[in-house]
Amino acid sequence: MKEWRGIPRQEIPWFPTIDPEKCTGCKTCMEFCKNDVLTFDGEAEKVLVANPFNCVVECRTCSRLCPSGAISFPAEKDFAAWLQEYRGKS
Ligand code: SF4
Ligand code: SF4
Repeated sequence: MKEWRGIPRQEIPWFPTIDPEKCTGCKTCMEFCKNDVLTFDGEAEKVLVANPFNCVVECRTCSRLCPSGAISFPAEKDFAAWLQEYRGKS
């Protein structure tokens, strides 16, 4: 995805954040997501965010599937505020 609603994807602050303290390396998130966002760190045995801007804007499915609650996204109201501000600037 190069653009989302006319905004260059790289300018959009939407991607997962994984808490390494909570991640158990179960790979449930990676098995679901086929967008090459996530990668497995074999040494640490945890999942990392490799390509944040491959994440589908407003998707949060992997965070719902994570049994450890390790994946977070921006709050809906914060993202809406960002979008409003961005539109105001352009
Ligand atoms: S689903 Fe959660 S605990 Fe499992 S690998 Fe992904 S982030 Fe880690
Ligand atoms: S939110 Fe959706 S697109 Fe983004 S990494 Fe998770 S499953 Fe993949």
